[in-house]
Amino acid sequence: MSVDSSTRSAGAIDTTAPGRIVIENCAIATVDARDTEYDRGHVVVAGNRIEAVGAGPAPAGTERVVRRIDGTGHLVTPGLVNTHHHFYQWITRGLAQECNLFDWLVTLYPVWAGIDDEMCYAAAQGSAAALLRSGCTTSTDHAYVFPKGGGDILGAEIRALAELGMRFQPARGSMDLGTSQGGLPPDACVEDTDAALAATAEAIDRWHDPSFDAMVRVTAAPCSPFSVTPELLRGAAELARAKGVRLHTHGAETVQEEAFCRERFGMGPTDYLESLGWLGEDVWMAHCVHMDDSDIAKFAATGTGVAHCPSSNARLAAGVARIPDMLAAGVPVGLGVDGAASNESGELGTELRNALLIARLRGGPGALTARQALRLGTAGGAKVLGREHEIGSLEAGKLADLAMWRVDDVLHSGIADPVAALVLGAAAPLTLLLVNGREVVEQGRLSRVDEEEIARNVGRAAARLRAKQRPSAGGRSVPGH
Ligand SMILES: [Zn+2]
Repeated sequence: MSVDSSTRSAGAIDTTAPGRIVIENCAIATVDARDTEYDRGHVVVAGNRIEAVGAGPAPAGTERVVRRIDGTGHLVTPGLVNTHHHFYQWITRGLAQECNLFDWLVTLYPVWAGIDDEMCYAAAQGSAAALLRSGCTTSTDHAYVFPKGGGDILGAEIRALAELGMRFQPARGSMDLGTSQGGLPPDACVEDTDAALAATAEAIDRWHDPSFDAMVRVTAAPCSPFSVTPELLRGAAELARAKGVRLHTHGAETVQEEAFCRERFGMGPTDYLESLGWLGEDVWMAHCVHMDDSDIAKFAATGTGVAHCPSSNARLAAGVARIPDMLAAGVPVGLGVDGAASNESGELGTELRNALLIARLRGGPGALTARQALRLGTAGGAKVLGREHEIGSLEAGKLADLAMWRVDDVLHSGIADPVAALVLGAAAPLTLLLVNGREVVEQGRLSRVDEEEIARNVGRAAARLRAKQRPSAGGRSVPGH
């Protein structure tokens, strides 16, 4: 046991100043611009900020220490940052197991048409539990299914994440191109264009917090070129820029999407999105698997970010994104788990390893290093979400979002390099996770909520959604079952 909470003290007389958490004797990968690492060092957290990081023990005379932790046998890294997800899919895992993207979507859209805010609350709890337990401290969520009568879906998710203690960047998604207009989703799943834009504006006004230590930032996020009209994409870009929020969508995920764009718009997805004002430093796109040299150059020149989702891309056989080429060109890249219906694990920690392995299958042993994989999952993700000055590395003045991984247990002890132990080894036990200076995971378990209650909530929500399906499904079997 390396976490010692027995040294909690009453603190000094000044009760208004923030208490400090001191972690010592740990290996540290700061993921700062110079990739500074310490074999044996310290991190001092004061309130919700990192106050000091360095070699050896914490500075002598550090006062108001409320918790002192012996990090022997551990690696401390920045908390991981998840740049793409669809929380609601947590309650539709295990379906359509052998489908490609379009078949998978067509199978699942009618199921998703039954979601409501109560189900999405449970799904957000489950999604965030998997993320937190795998070292993730900040996540986005791309919610784009808003059935009529579904209630306050975004509000339910925000409430769930606040309870678990996670930093959150919800993306108010939308779809307005139903099958009757040549789109992929059924008409029952889409919104009216103006209504979608109004709801996005309302979400920004209600929840977006631009402050440095914001726990909630909102993004405008029409779903994809094959489920959204050009009017909605253009309108969302104008809205986001008027309100100073970021833009997110899916781009260049599959060959079918490429064919759809060429047939309908006469160009590939990157050129199409560019024509609607959708390249820029305030934009990031999920997947970007099918990118040619010109597409990558455009992303690099404009600072457009990429959410790389290796497990989902493999699950749906979408292809292998050219991440090493993007990094060489200077494209900002982060990692994403994607929705849990195409990545049932929902864990971000294991995506470090998957990103490395998949990159090497395409590009050889030097395609991606363990440290580059860690950077994708931390500083890279922070940059993609526009929060590189606040999170993503362990540096004095940044927010205290950090993960303390055990690397001397039976599965990791003896591995020569702690970063290799984390990235190449088995999923490392998470001894401690801090978000905004608060403990949210201790000894691998969520600190602020009852995990068993979440499991029960998720089970009930999934069952309720399945029950809604039966009358309308007409006995049609779901692929994979
Ligand atoms: Zn997605």
